Amino acid sequence: MVSDPFDFIIVGAGSAGCALAARLTEGGEFRVLLLEAGGEATHPWMSTPLGVGRMLADPSVLWAFETEPEPEMNDTRLFWPRGKVLGGSSSINGMLYVRGDPVLYDKWRDTDCPGWGYEDLLPLFKRIEDRKGGDPDWRGVGGPIKVTDVAHKDAITEAFFHGCQSIGIPATHDYNTKTYEGVSYLQLSVENGKRCSAERAYLKPARHRENLEVQTQALVTRVVFERGRAVGVEWRTKDGGLEVSTARKEVILCGGALCSPLILERSGIGDAAVLDAHDIDRTLHLPGVGANLQDHLNVRITYETDRAITLNDALNNPVRGAMMALKYALTRRGLMATSTVTVHALMKSDAGLSSPDLKLQVAHVTGKDRFSMAKGLGIDPWPGFSLNAFQLQPASRGSIHIRSADPADDPVIKAQYLTDPDDQKTVVKSLRLLRDLAKTPEVSGLIKREVLPGPDVTTDDELLAYARATGQTSWHTVGTCKMGSDAMAVVGSDLKVHGVEGLRIADASVVPFIVSANTNAAAYVVAERCADLLVRAWNAPQDITINERRTG
Ligand SMILES: Cc1cc2nc3c(=O)[nH]c(=O)nc-3n(C[C@H](O)[C@H](O)[C@H](O)COP(=O)(O)OP(=O)(O)OC[C@H]3O[C@@H](n4cnc5c(N)ncnc54)[C@H](O)[C@@H]3O)c2cc1C
Repeated sequence: MVSDPFDFIIVGAGSAGCALAARLTEGGEFRVLLLEAGGEATHPWMSTPLGVGRMLADPSVLWAFETEPEPEMNDTRLFWPRGKVLGGSSSINGMLYVRGDPVLYDKWRDTDCPGWGYEDLLPLFKRIEDRKGGDPDWRGVGGPIKVTDVAHKDAITEAFFHGCQSIGIPATHDYNTKTYEGVSYLQLSVENGKRCSAERAYLKPARHRENLEVQTQALVTRVVFERGRAVGVEWRTKDGGLEVSTARKEVILCGGALCSPLILERSGIGDAAVLDAHDIDRTLHLPGVGANLQDHLNVRITYETDRAITLNDALNNPVRGAMMALKYALTRRGLMATSTVTVHALMKSDAGLSSPDLKLQVAHVTGKDRFSMAKGLGIDPWPGFSLNAFQLQPASRGSIHIRSADPADDPVIKAQYLTDPDDQKTVVKSLRLLRDLAKTPEVSGLIKREVLPGPDVTTDDELLAYARATGQTSWHTVGTCKMGSDAMAVVGSDLKVHGVEGLRIADASVVPFIVSANTNAAAYVVAERCADLLVRAWNAPQDITINERRTG
C-alpha cells in the first residue's frame, strides 16, 4: 500500500531516478515515492556485461519502441529499445563510462544555462564515481558508480589502439579528464566483472530506508495539477487499478528522453497541436516538448579475420563458448566481461576543428543484420570484427510524441537520421576513415577480407547508400525536454518545467545537445544536480551536511 503524503514523487527509476531517490533520502528529512513502470532488476543476464544482447531481445525488461519509417534510411523502422526495469537503461546498456567533452558542457552553460559548465559539474562527476588510481583533480573515489578499465584486451583491441595512432590520433590516458580527444582503452561501469547499474549502485543501498517507498510495475499516466501547480501523479497499479499519490513539495519526472515528453503531453503540457489532435485538456502550450530529439547514428564496416578470438567464434563454437564462460567464471575477465566494445577513439576529422567530431570504436562481433528484437544480430558464421563510427555532434533533429491519449500506446518517434546534408557528408567521411584505419599495418594484418560494405562500394553515393541501409541507433537520445530559456526550451537551468509550479525534469531529456559522448554519465550528473537544487530549495537542515559529505 502506498502511504501518502510524500514530499517528492519521482517518476521513473532509471539512471537518473535511482540516483535522485538515493540522494534525496540519504539525509532522512524527506519522504520520497519512486514509481517505476518496469519490474525488479532480476533478469538472469543483467549482471553479466555480455548479457546486453540477451536483454535487448527480451521484452520483459524493455520499452521495445520502433521509429516511424525513416525518410533518409530507406523508409525503414529502426528498433529503439529502452530499459523498463529498476535501473532503467543503465540495467541494459553497454556500460561504457564516458562523461563527455568538457567543451560541450561549457557550450551548454553558455546557452543561458548557468551552472552547467564542466567546472561547475566537476564536483558532481567526482561524487558519482569510484575510480581508483585516477588523477584526484579530475576523478572521484568512494562514489556509488564503480568505474573500471575494460577487462579484455586482445590482438584486435591492440591493433585498433595502435592503428589509430598510425593515422594521427593521439593516445589518451584518461578521457574522463580535461583531455577528451584521443584513442583509449574503455572505462566501464563494471565492478568485479558485474554490471554496476543505477539500481545496484544507488538504489539497492537506499531501499531499506523508511523514508523511501519504491513501487514497481507502476505506470504513471499523468501529473495531477491544482491551480497550475503539480500536486501529485496518477498511476496504474500492477493489477490495472488507478491510484493518485500526492507530493507536498514537488514531482520530478525521470522517465528518460523517450518517456518524459510523453508523460508531459498526457498531462496536458506540450505543443497545442499535438494535445488538440488527441483531445487532451491543455494545461500549457509548450512547443518544445518532444522536439529537438537527437541521437548518434552508428555505422560499421565488418571484416572477416583469421583469428578465432571474436565473439562470433565463442557463439558459433560450443567449446570456445565454454572456454569464454569458464574464463569469466574464474577471473571475471574476457569477452563476457564486456559488451563487445573495448577501445574507442575520439577524433577530429579535420585538424582545424576545436574539438572531436567523430567517435570510432571496435566491436568484437559481426552480424549480417541491424540488431532487432526478433532477429538479434544474425551472427556471422566466421571470425569477425567490425569498425564502427558515429558523428559526435549530428545536426539532424527528430521528435517524439504520443500516438494517442492511451499510456499503453507506443509513441511516434521520428529520429530523422541523415536529414541534414552535413550529416550525410560526415557519415561518408567516417566510413572512409574506418577504411584508412583498416589499411594501417596494425589492423590490416588481422583482416582476411572486408565483408560489408565490400570493396566494390567506393563512391560517396555508394557509401551513403550503405549507411542508409545499415546504420542503427547508438541509444544516445537526448534533448526532448531541453534546458534553456528560448521558446523551444522545456526546463530552465533549475530543471523546473517552464510555466508551471512544482514540477521538474531530471534525466537525459533535458540535455540540450549530445555532449559528444555516450549519455549515461550525463544522466547521472543531471540527477545529482537536481538533488542539490531540491535540498537547497526546500531549505532542509541536511543541506550543508550532505554537500560537505559528498564533496569531501
Ligand atoms: C541498449 C542501450 C545501450 C546503451 N549503452 C550506453 C553505454 O554503453 N554508455 C552510456 O553512457 N550510455 C549508454 N546508453 C544510454 C544510457 O543508458 C541512457 O542515456 C541513460 O540510461 C538515460 O538515463 P535516464 O535516467 O534519462 O533514462 P532511463 O535510464 O531510460 O530511465 C527511465 C526510467 O523511467 C521509467 N519510466 C518511463 N516512463 C514511465 C512511466 N510512465 N511511469 C513509470 N516509469 C516510467 C522507465 O521504465 C525507466 O526505468 C545506452 C542505452 C541503451 C538503451
